[in-house]
Amino acid sequence: MKRRDFVKQLGAGALVAGTVAAAGCSGQQQVEKDSTRGSAKTYHWKIVTTWPKNFPGMGTAVNKLVALIDEMSGGRLKIKVYGAGELVPAFEVFDAVSSGTAEMGHGAAYYWKGKSEAAQFFSTVPFGLTAQEMNAWLYYGGGMELWQELYQPFGLIPVAAGNTGVQMGGWFNKEINSPADLKGLKMRIPGLGGEVLRRLGGTPVNLPGGEIFTSLQSGTIDATEWVGPYNDLAFGLHKAARYYYYPGWHEPGTTLECIINQQAFAGLPGDLQAIVTNACKAINIDLLSEFTARNNTALYQLLMDHKVALRSFPENVLKELRRVADKVVAELADRDPMAEKIFTSFRTFQKQAMAWNNISERAYLNTRV
Ligand code: CA
Repeated sequence: MKRRDFVKQLGAGALVAGTVAAAGCSGQQQVEKDSTRGSAKTYHWKIVTTWPKNFPGMGTAVNKLVALIDEMSGGRLKIKVYGAGELVPAFEVFDAVSSGTAEMGHGAAYYWKGKSEAAQFFSTVPFGLTAQEMNAWLYYGGGMELWQELYQPFGLIPVAAGNTGVQMGGWFNKEINSPADLKGLKMRIPGLGGEVLRRLGGTPVNLPGGEIFTSLQSGTIDATEWVGPYNDLAFGLHKAARYYYYPGWHEPGTTLECIINQQAFAGLPGDLQAIVTNACKAINIDLLSEFTARNNTALYQLLMDHKVALRSFPENVLKELRRVADKVVAELADRDPMAEKIFTSFRTFQKQAMAWNNISERAYLNTRV
């Protein structure tokens, strides 16, 4: 259909009833007849992201997601990708989708702790669930239902759409030999991990990915975590810091999210709704697989080509981080009834998962050392 016919059709009020709410919500959504599918309509959506456009892993996963939705829907749902800062700044993604400026967003739930502190449970919790355990909790342990309940008042539907796996502990320009070495450290570290650092005398900073390298290089921050070898290498963080610490105690399996505007979603026919949610599910697994595969080669490059100094946090540091982290999480549950409800579910699930994982994954991995 030609553009002028489409405009004429809109002017003639030819929008189908089911799409009116969705169109009203964004004010820009376009609905047109798809000449190849009879009465089938084509929907045009926008997805805003907290990542730089095309950033390896998170950014490219969003590109894959919209391509998959396009393919699965036979071209009936077209989604345009906007990287951080293109339509809205990285940390305004939640508001943009909530208000309908965009129909979808991709990011991580701990970025929205200013909206609801309880959101952090749905990205990652220090010393919490691994990637596999997060997926198990979300899909089969009641986590997904709680997440939907939490985002409902914001007019949003959350869907898991990626997982980084265990992250790295971060980049430092001095060695961390005791908890005292964290004192006075200005570090980019989001979510509950950041609060743990604060309690130990550091200053957590929450910066979008795209601003990390410059901030570290210019000395605006002393240290940073980002994701893992694959993503950290892409930002060139090894050029701005000497020591690369593990493990990522603060992000043991970070779930990335798609958020969908409720009204826009309600305006889609059932098959397109199923395509959107199941494409996100496919990306959820795809991205974890990609991180797992590419971290291997990127770590090798960092160590062999760039001579990065790899360090593990000493046991006394991890022990202290864990003691404080448990306190931080418990206090969050104490001051917010919804956080308490989620924490109860999360903690119960983690206890069971640990019992099983100790005699499965851990027992097996120990045989490979
Ligand atoms: Ca991180």
